[in-house]
Amino acid sequence: MSIVCDLDGVVWDGSQFIDGSVDGLTLLHQHGYEIWYVTNNSSTPARRHCDRLHAAGAPQSEHVVTSADSAASVVHEGDTILVVGGPGIHAALQDRGCRTMGSTDLTPRSLPAIDAVVVGIDPDISYHTIWMAQLAIANGARLIGTNPDTSFPSDGMIKPGGGAILAAIAAASDSEPTITGKPYGPMADLWRRLRSDTEQPIVMIGDRRSTDGAFAAELGAEFILVTSRISDSDLTDVPVHHTVASLRDAATLLVSEG
Ligand SMILES: [Mg+2]
Repeated sequence: MSIVCDLDGVVWDGSQFIDGSVDGLTLLHQHGYEIWYVTNNSSTPARRHCDRLHAAGAPQSEHVVTSADSAASVVHEGDTILVVGGPGIHAALQDRGCRTMGSTDLTPRSLPAIDAVVVGIDPDISYHTIWMAQLAIANGARLIGTNPDTSFPSDGMIKPGGGAILAAIAAASDSEPTITGKPYGPMADLWRRLRSDTEQPIVMIGDRRSTDGAFAAELGAEFILVTSRISDSDLTDVPVHHTVASLRDAATLLVSEG
């Protein structure tokens, strides 16, 4: 069986691993499950997520896919891209052969021809950033969002997510973004291309119905909702097959079910 596991709010909460999460992942791996970590966090390069999982002893730590990777899958080699987000987006796009830039040094007069504006989380978001993105889009750039999450859990608090920044730029530019992360098609297509055994049933473990639950539906996967952190009551029509308190409980449940 293939496990698609969310990271934020399931494996870790900000700087802390959630109690028992690595034990749960290890238990699943010992029972032959293939594990993939699929995160809408686009600001941290996938490589750093891999290193962090590896250092904690999590199995298959090289199997990380981020929403920055999914954004890179919908642009073209050689594109010039304005990034409103962190180093993870720059890294994924540069690996794809794109030229990336931030908005800080841009002015309306110096704005180059831009193929796409890719938006994730930018903790330094300013009026100037939204303006440069608006101008690029008015000149023909596509608007791409790495994820729709309007908030995310971090160190016991809830913070504004990339979806909130994307909403501001979409409103200013009166444009409809293409969103590439969970639960949307580009992430599903990317993951399907990466997994080794396409015949195995899939279980998605996540803490949000609106992204993880809907992504499970997109993949045709069973969905296990982990309630350790965020709980959102939206999209209650998204099927939840099991609700558990933690990733460790999800693993125990799956192993006991066989
Ligand atoms: Mg999460």
